[in-house]
Amino acid sequence: MSNRPYNFYPGPAILPLEVIQQVQNELLNIGGTGLSVMEVSHRGKAYDEIHKTAMADLKEVLHIPDNYHILFLQGGASLQFAMVPMNFLRKGTADYVNTGSWAKKAIKEAKLFGNVNIAGSSEDKNFSYIPRELNLSPDADYLHITSNETISGIRWNRFPETGYVPMISDMSSEICSRKIDVARFGLIYAGAQKNLGPAGVTAVIIRDDLAEKCPDDVTTMLNYKTHVEKESLFNTPPCFAIYVVGLVLKWIKKQGGLEALEEVNNEKARLIYEVIDGGDFYRGTADPADRSIMNITFRLPSEELEAEFVRQSEKAGFVGLKGHRSVGGLRASIYNAFPLEGVKELVKFMKKFEQENS
Ligand SMILES: *Cc1c(COP(=O)(O)O)cnc(C)c1O
Repeated sequence: MSNRPYNFYPGPAILPLEVIQQVQNELLNIGGTGLSVMEVSHRGKAYDEIHKTAMADLKEVLHIPDNYHILFLQGGASLQFAMVPMNFLRKGTADYVNTGSWAKKAIKEAKLFGNVNIAGSSEDKNFSYIPRELNLSPDADYLHITSNETISGIRWNRFPETGYVPMISDMSSEICSRKIDVARFGLIYAGAQKNLGPAGVTAVIIRDDLAEKCPDDVTTMLNYKTHVEKESLFNTPPCFAIYVVGLVLKWIKKQGGLEALEEVNNEKARLIYEVIDGGDFYRGTADPADRSIMNITFRLPSEELEAEFVRQSEKAGFVGLKGHRSVGGLRASIYNAFPLEGVKELVKFMKKFEQENS
């Protein structure tokens, strides 16, 4: 399978090859049933094992404390933009930090449910940094942040202190890429299709006191309490997607967990930033203090060269390097499953392209 292109797509994104191969091997017979995982009851023994093991493994990998529940929901991270305020922004004010396109979408939904205080924003500089000074409301229902902005390529290195105010984070494009102190958060959510598995399932990690606070007048499917009580089996879950997430979590454990993965991820990012910083041909768009190790955004001296870079990179066997249409430029998304040797190949390509075009 060495003819697979190096996959820099931002999401859906690369999965570990051995996970896809295992899916292939087990596709016709899951857990000795003689049937595929798509064909068996979500209340049966084979699926139940998959469901519970995936939850337990996420708990283990992220070192999630016992006073949290793990949920596997549908509707993507985008539905979480609405579910969070629907359940928790009831009368008062919620603080949001506007760090980019995804934060903005979360803010738009929250405004439908109550008062939103923009506690900080980096819109003045095209979302190239994380705001340092936050104007937090002392009695906010919660603070919402986007821990890694997939499009502009910035991330929170240090999380704000919120005291008794619960901190909620969209971690879609970085979950399980570095060690996180889950206890700092009231709720974490992440669409699976960047770092955890295929599209179709969203992982939610919710602290018990928040789950208990969910009001009864929120519609059943959008009430966190429903899914906490039924362990994400209130209705038919996205069984296949959860099954693949389970395999990815086993793969993470095999790599040595987040401790080992974070180190490799740091090294992968460092190698690319080194080329970007090494001259004035490439220009990183994110403030070096806040740049992401998952989504690396950069520009070239002209848009023509950027288009040429994309063309030649595709010929050389790299896909997905074109930046998001809203910001242009280039973006290398190097999620957990992206191999170190692929980064080294990209670095070689970047150096050669620079030599030939500067
Ligand atoms: C991709 C992404 C989303 C959107 O996720 P969906 O599952 O498509 O709704 C939200 N937030 C961040 C940070 C993302 O990277």
